[in-house]
Amino acid sequence: MNTNTISQSAPRSHPLVDLLLTTDPRRRTALSLCLLSTGLYIGFLGLIWLYLVPNVLSDQEQAWNWAFTIHQLIAIGLFYPLIRSGLTLKYEDPGLVALQIIWASAAVVLGYAVAPVMRVGNLQILCLAQVFGFVSLRPRAALLTGGATIGMLLAMWAIMSALHGPHFNPADEAFQIFPTCLILGLLAWQSRNFGRSRERMAEEKTRLASATERVRQIARHDPLTGLFNRQYLQTRLDAEHDRAGRSGSSFCIAVIDLDHFKNVNDTHGHHVGDEVLLAFAQQARTSLRETDLIGRWGGEEFVVVMPETDPAQAGTIGLSRLKEALCETGLSARVPSLRVTFSAGLAALQPGESSKQLLQRADEALYLAKAQGRNRAVIAG
Ligand code: GH3
Ligand code: MG
Ligand code: MG
Repeated sequence: MNTNTISQSAPRSHPLVDLLLTTDPRRRTALSLCLLSTGLYIGFLGLIWLYLVPNVLSDQEQAWNWAFTIHQLIAIGLFYPLIRSGLTLKYEDPGLVALQIIWASAAVVLGYAVAPVMRVGNLQILCLAQVFGFVSLRPRAALLTGGATIGMLLAMWAIMSALHGPHFNPADEAFQIFPTCLILGLLAWQSRNFGRSRERMAEEKTRLASATERVRQIARHDPLTGLFNRQYLQTRLDAEHDRAGRSGSSFCIAVIDLDHFKNVNDTHGHHVGDEVLLAFAQQARTSLRETDLIGRWGGEEFVVVMPETDPAQAGTIGLSRLKEALCETGLSARVPSLRVTFSAGLAALQPGESSKQLLQRADEALYLAKAQGRNRAVIAG
């Protein structure tokens, strides 16, 4: 009946099975167990009405039997439709496992009163019902179901002792139900332990997933600026290159280098240099388009991959926006008046060109931009 620990991939099956159990893996196990218990309820009712009522039951037992029958009919008509409709998905126990165990146990306790011939069998079934909670119940729900079952059994013993029918000897029955209560208590405790280890495993899984995510972040990003690092940007560049090759489209890259950055370090110190690199990265992220990928290629050099862009567009729009932003905004809190410029080499992918050749052409354009006096972008021919 577990709905929390079921694998998330929907199993393939016959359309009729899908209709009965849905294709939602979170509900399939709960619904199949619910159908199983519905079948058992129908089987019990058949046994009682076709055999016990005409042959065995006394009039007083017959009165109990009506209560038992109504109880079973409610279970048949209620649980499956509720779980199948998805209404219970918002609950902590969407398969209604605890409620079904308590409900089934109540039916068995009633059966214990109704059918003296089945008394021993009923006590065994009562223990068996607890086992259904092993795979899904939370620790508190496990103790609650066990406690409720013991409570119902003791209450029924007390009622039967008070009514004192010919088939019921309170002292003998007390000896019968004592081991059952003990086993029920142990089963509930074990179910609670299973629930706790499931919770611990779920916590471990979450911790592992977030640790994996952190490692992935570290492996892809430059620690100082938070931009993609060179290795990761290279894989994205290669992927964009392959995509362009397949679709016949083009893209453009820019190699950006801060001008006279050594002077920043020499004049204001390495701390200020670091501060400027970080602020430049933040400014570049906001100035460039969301689809542009920017990474720190090394030192004070950055590479931008601009999908579906021609270099003139990139030079005039994206990079000039960045240039203006750098003119207006200071990049260092320590030295507010400090301004930096950058030079850029732009190149668009030519047919048949490798990403290495593309980078080389952009680099050459950057070299020209530096040679022409810096603070400018040059488009590779
Ligand atoms: P140009 O305009 O020709 O590019 O001159 P430049 O001074 O920017 O170029 P150069 O290659 O001479 O110097 C780059 C400087 O960048 C030198 C190096 O100390 C500095 N640098 C590289 N990485 C970092 C870093 O992580 N932090 C800081 N603060 N400085 C760095
Ligand atoms: Mg430089
Ligand atoms: Mg450089």
